[in-house]
Amino acid sequence: RLEVRNITRRFGGVPVVSEVSLSVMPGQVTCLLGPSGCGKSTTLRIIAGVDWPDEGEIRIDGERIVAPGFFVPPEKRGTGLMFQDFALFPHLSVFDNIAFGLDGTRTEKRLRVHELLDKVGLLRYIDSYPHELSGGEQQRVALARALAPRPRIMLMDEPFSGLDNRLRDGIRDETLSILKDEGTAVLLVTHEPEEAMRMADEIALMRRGRIVQQGAPYNVYNAPVDREAAAFFSDIN
Ligand code: ATP
Ligand code: MG
Repeated sequence: RLEVRNITRRFGGVPVVSEVSLSVMPGQVTCLLGPSGCGKSTTLRIIAGVDWPDEGEIRIDGERIVAPGFFVPPEKRGTGLMFQDFALFPHLSVFDNIAFGLDGTRTEKRLRVHELLDKVGLLRYIDSYPHELSGGEQQRVALARALAPRPRIMLMDEPFSGLDNRLRDGIRDETLSILKDEGTAVLLVTHEPEEAMRMADEIALMRRGRIVQQGAPYNVYNAPVDREAAAFFSDIN
């Protein structure tokens, strides 16, 4: 369970993230949704531990990972990351890409890699190299790699925006069902209302560094907080 409380981040004195609070439960997807430049990636980077807030606190499963004067390094947070540019290691096989960050015996690694490749339907590519796979297949391998160490929290920054429309829907649905199956808490960043409506259990609508509305997709869509929010949603059909 991820809990973000009142985080603020300033660059050169200018707040880019202002008093942001949100939470994500295991097996649930919270979408941080908002237009370009509103501070989504900065928020995600702070949670991942590659940046830090000037104010506020973050907890994972009740344990403090960030607070004033306190900072748990990224690799000790139990968070997984997926970005649009999900680059696999080109010189490593699919197996080695997924096993890369795993601890444990050879047998334990094999079991976990097999389990995940089976889930993403790519077991037959276990000994292939990334360049032998399509973009969609590479994205599935990247998902398997991110899930391999069993992160408690999965942080995803527009992970589907590099895929063509035809592929995207299928991969979104598949990714969702695997994440639910693994019981991972997911924070998904997107600037597309349609993606948030499709994937989120909860939407946090962000604008100019602040969360202006938070709730179930249906409610956020049907009862926008103001005209600007309504306009932002209006291009979905
Ligand atoms: P997009 O949808 O385009 O990815 P975003 O919501 O992810 O946008 P951020 O990347 O969080 O937006 O950036 C928010 C603002 O903070 C932008 O105006 C950006 O220029 C600024 N910013 C981000 N990182 C830094 C930094 N290290 N130094 C100064 N300004 C920064
Ligand atoms: Mg961004």
